[in-house]
Parts: sequence; structure tokens; C-alpha cells
Amino acid sequence: MKALTYIEPGRFELIEKPKPGILDSKDAVVRVTLSSICSSDLHILHGAVPQAEPGITIGHELVGVVEAVGSEVTTVKPGDRVAVNVETFCGECFYCKLGYVNNCTSGGWMLGCRIDGGQAEYVRVPYADNGLTPIPSNVSDEQALFVGDILATGYWASKISEILEDDTVLIIGAGPTGLCTLECVQLYNPQRIVVCEADKSRREFVHQHYPDVCIVEPTECLEVLNSFTEGRGADRVIEVAGGENTFELAWRCARPNAIVTIVALYEKEQILPLPWMYGKNLTFKTGGVDACDCDKIMQLISEGRIDTTHLITHHYPLSRIHKAYDLFAKRCDGIIKTAIYPD
Ligand SMILES: [Zn+2]
Ligand SMILES: [Zn+2]
Repeated sequence: MKALTYIEPGRFELIEKPKPGILDSKDAVVRVTLSSICSSDLHILHGAVPQAEPGITIGHELVGVVEAVGSEVTTVKPGDRVAVNVETFCGECFYCKLGYVNNCTSGGWMLGCRIDGGQAEYVRVPYADNGLTPIPSNVSDEQALFVGDILATGYWASKISEILEDDTVLIIGAGPTGLCTLECVQLYNPQRIVVCEADKSRREFVHQHYPDVCIVEPTECLEVLNSFTEGRGADRVIEVAGGENTFELAWRCARPNAIVTIVALYEKEQILPLPWMYGKNLTFKTGGVDACDCDKIMQLISEGRIDTTHLITHHYPLSRIHKAYDLFAKRCDGIIKTAIYPD
């Protein structure tokens, strides 16, 4: 089968590999029907993910059909349509039992990083009972494509932000994960949502698809928030952008006693200038997604309460995936997300 493979920093190649098989009784093999490219894949390409193993197949955002299961798999069977979870987790260790599946002692981000992922025709998924979410018949592959990664991140970020109905919520960044976060923040019906984005075409995208949301540029963000809140600032801030100054923007825009949730992945160290925020009494929440609510997210999609189909702006066959990477890396042609389908 064809598989997009990490050869060395700067080089991915679509090469022939043997079709994966069941290696463990908790494995499943999934025939990939749709996959996508994530900015984490670009981090691997740029050599910025030290744990990424050369030789592995890239890709951790995908949906497909179960082809085979190991003897201990109970929740899915061959023929089932499934979304694949970015996190591999055992469900039994200290962290998994507390719901902190990102810290699973025998898992974490493995697919497309430490083991073969899904920008291929088939993928082996370990701990399939935890790593696969069945797709209901009224949900399309495109609707389900982001459940296991960026929607899981948006859902988790919104959940830990403890959003109340009177809140003004600021989301920094309107890239794919920022937009998934916006979809999930809307579930909490806060009084006002403000999205801050530096890129003009992304601001227009938000304006077009989310007319009730206030969209601002970074330079006007604090001023607009102050005008809405009698000068207090945002009650909740979710920082998804990971830009040069966006961490500083996040805590500056937060009102005293706010919750600031950081799900952005930074390429550089960030400064926490405690003297400047003394007395602001902020609560910071940070870290990688605990993707253990995929069944709830799938249910919300099935009920029509979350829809991310419009994030898919481009489609490419697996044989032309390099073209999709080019476009995604250069952020041109209004690209938000690409769907990669089998040839
Ligand atoms: Zn990702
Ligand atoms: Zn575990």
C-alpha cells in the first residue's frame, strides 16, 4: 500500500509499504477512507518533534472502516465506520483512570509520530476499544474527520475553561483548532464570544460562517474587550494561536480572577512575568488534549450541534498529497483544512 513516510527532517515521501496486520489482541486495522493534514505534521516535517521516528507513516487525523480486530476488541467489528483518536491510551493506568489519557503511561501521541499513522491506505490502531469512535449512519466521513484530534482539542479546551452563561470568552487564533474551539465554546452559550485573529482571510472566514461572533485584530483586541466589559477584560481566554506575542495577549486580555486556557503549541519558550500580573489572580490551565470525550463529540455532531464540514476547503487524492502539504504549509488559496481521499 501507499504510505506518506517521514524519511528525515525536511523530507516526506509517498512509498510502498506492506499492509499492516494485527500485532496485539487489542489492535484493529482500519481501511482509511479520509484523512487530513495537521500543523503537527508540519512540525515533524520541520524536524521540530524529537520523538518522531524516521520511517514512520505520517498522519493522525482520519476516519475509515474497520478491516480486522484482535481477539480482545469488543466495541467495534469489521465493517464499522470509525473515527480514529489522536491519542493512544490503555484505559487502565493511573492517569487513564482519572481521565488524563494524554498522560497514559503506555500511550500518548503515537499514531503518525512514534508508530505508523493514517496518511496511507490502512493503519493499525492499538487499544482499539479506546482509540476508535463508531460513526453513526447520519454522520458523514467529512463531518467526523476532526473528531479525534482538533475537535477533541476544542472540546477539551472549552470544558476545562469552566465557561458560564454571563461570560465574555476570548478565543485567540482562528486556524483549524481555533475554529473547532469556537464550535465547542458555542455549546456553553456564553454571553459573548470574541475571536482574535491576525490573518485577514481567516477573519473573513469567521465573519462569513459565524455572523454572531465578534472578530478582531490583535491590535484592537483589548480595547474591544474593555468596551464590552466595563473595562474589565475577558472572563475566559482560550489561547490556540501559539504566535510570537499571543501568550502575552492572552493574560493581558484576561480580567482579574479569569481562567486562561493555553492549548497552543509554542515553538519558543514563553515568559510568565509574575510581577506584572500580581493581584490579577489568574488561573492558568495548560497542556495537551485529553481526548477521552470523542463519543460525546460524535453524539453532538449527530444531533446537529457541532458541524465542522465547512473547515474542509480542499480535497486531494493520496497520490497528490505533496500538493496538499505545499498549500497547507504556505497557507495560500484560503486553505483551512484538506481532506485526503484514497485514489
Ligand atoms: Zn493534530
Ligand atoms: Zn493508560
